[in-house]
Amino acid sequence: MLAAERADRTGLAGFDDGELRDLFADEAGKRPDSKAIWHVLRLAVKSGLVMPDPTTEEIRLDLAMIQPEGFPEVGAVYGDLTLVREVAAGTWLCKCACGSARTFRIEYLTTGITSRCNNASKHRPVA
Ligand SMILES: [Zn+2]
Repeated sequence: MLAAERADRTGLAGFDDGELRDLFADEAGKRPDSKAIWHVLRLAVKSGLVMPDPTTEEIRLDLAMIQPEGFPEVGAVYGDLTLVREVAAGTWLCKCACGSARTFRIEYLTTGITSRCNNASKHRPVA
């Protein structure tokens, strides 16, 4: 079942662990291990992007957050980051608005956990 078909009218959909791994699988069908996914999801829960479902083993994802339009393609913008090219399965070279370039796992961008490079000196507010 497609993730979008499952979403209720609030735009949230529940998934169990195996389904989450399918959801995050790359184009070749390779599924990331559970540990990697749950690490990302815990960060996302902390950031308020997803809600663990208190009544089941499921976790509820805001589909608009994890699958913005055009996901994922060259030129897609996540915060200050623009996708340049996929350098390995699920890993993208990104150009930051500050001019820096670095690679990120796509799920960190699509879940909203990362929205810019981590170059603190370039992002420090100017007094
Ligand atoms: Zn930057």
